[in-house]
Amino acid sequence: MNMQNHHKRETRDYQELDASHHIHAFLDQKVLNAEGPRVIVKGEGLYLWDNDGNRYLDGMSGLWCTNLGYGREDLVAAATQQMQQLPYYNMFFHTTHPAVVELSEMLFSLLPRHYSHAIYTNSGSEANEVLIRTVRRYWQVVGQPKKRVMIGRWNGYHGSTLASSAMGGMKFMHEMGGMLPEIAHIDEPYWYAHGGTMTPEEFGRRCALQLEEKILELGAENVAGFIAEPFQGAGGMIFPPESYWPEIQRICRQYHVLLCADEVIGGFGRTGEWFAHQHFGFEPDTLSIAKGLTSGYIPMGGLVLSRTIAEALVEKGGVFAHGLTYSGHPVAAAVALANLKALRDEGIVSQVKKDSGPYLQKGLREIFTHHPLIGEIQGTGMVAALQFAEDKARRQRFSNESDITWRCRTYGFEEGVIIRSTVGRMIMAPALVAKHSEIDELLEKTKRAVDRTARDLGLM
Ligand code: PMP
Repeated sequence: MNMQNHHKRETRDYQELDASHHIHAFLDQKVLNAEGPRVIVKGEGLYLWDNDGNRYLDGMSGLWCTNLGYGREDLVAAATQQMQQLPYYNMFFHTTHPAVVELSEMLFSLLPRHYSHAIYTNSGSEANEVLIRTVRRYWQVVGQPKKRVMIGRWNGYHGSTLASSAMGGMKFMHEMGGMLPEIAHIDEPYWYAHGGTMTPEEFGRRCALQLEEKILELGAENVAGFIAEPFQGAGGMIFPPESYWPEIQRICRQYHVLLCADEVIGGFGRTGEWFAHQHFGFEPDTLSIAKGLTSGYIPMGGLVLSRTIAEALVEKGGVFAHGLTYSGHPVAAAVALANLKALRDEGIVSQVKKDSGPYLQKGLREIFTHHPLIGEIQGTGMVAALQFAEDKARRQRFSNESDITWRCRTYGFEEGVIIRSTVGRMIMAPALVAKHSEIDELLEKTKRAVDRTARDLGLM
């Protein structure tokens, strides 16, 4: 990597300028400005460096997106060539370009056969915005225009724009900007926190049945779709009980409610399958995608439609009243194509399924099953969560669990590993290309951070 662009300024200078002009994501800006952000200047493979030369193992693939790791020259070359050839053109004037056509060809060669069309966006939030308009349009076209309500889940995450955050279930986000009409929520299938005395299977079914109750309450004739992440990401890498998805699918089919999977995190190999719904064994009608589509090298997202939906829109829908200047951006499309080629041709997704995923999951269970602070380990492939527990036997959580996991995450940085804290859980999602030695390092450093937290709490 060319280092000439970096180390031009002292860290303090970057921090002061940043504090003067920049509002960050999901942080108290005053607290951040007092502490000063780490200034990240370089990435290579699974590693990041800050402006002071500290090296970190990135256990989060950036924000669940750098599936191929940092520093891939093939992606750089794809972007460079496309920028030279055709840096921009649009999809509005009866035009298209080879990059987006070839990306679609590749994408649908990887997807199950019942998906046929994509609408490209720049992000996951946008994909979910487009989703709402598209499913409402679909129901108009097939003669059921009253079907408009989207049902999401409490503690789900679908983005930060107005409608995507409204479909999400983060109440503190709803407080900023407000709720929208024609959006409803049901509970999340988070057994450890809310399962009470039920078995996970009973609880999973109970949570799914809430969808049926909500549809009946709203009237099936008014409900357009149900949106959910196959496993919750930002909510804490929460994997639903096995009983959950089959029952959800049954209910959606029975009441003609579209099943909309948010694959923004789960897509492109994270679970060892190309898409997370394949891991759980259900068949959504739409897929929202982003992040791993380009391994985060350039912004791109999209909404994938089943053949049934796409055919109705194409054959009977007339003008599709939607378009983004950067939909199917040629440079993003070229990078996405190179990224998908690498994931496929280097056998990376199957490697996650057969080798690196099981290696990570086994290591986590060996280290943490009997750890005094960890009440539950969930995950598959290259995604996992450690649930903090005050009393493992009684499945009791700490009352100040956010503070405790935040402390653990800070210890992680001090130990040289980036793992993320959510409300009561530590989560990880390393790049899919992680080698055994890197997984060993991730496990070792994570253990040190968790042990330090446990010692602070007098548990070790
Ligand atoms: N859906 C899910 C499941 C996500 O995790 C995210 C981002 N973390 C989004 C949507 C929004 O994507 P973006 O940040 O690209 O808008």
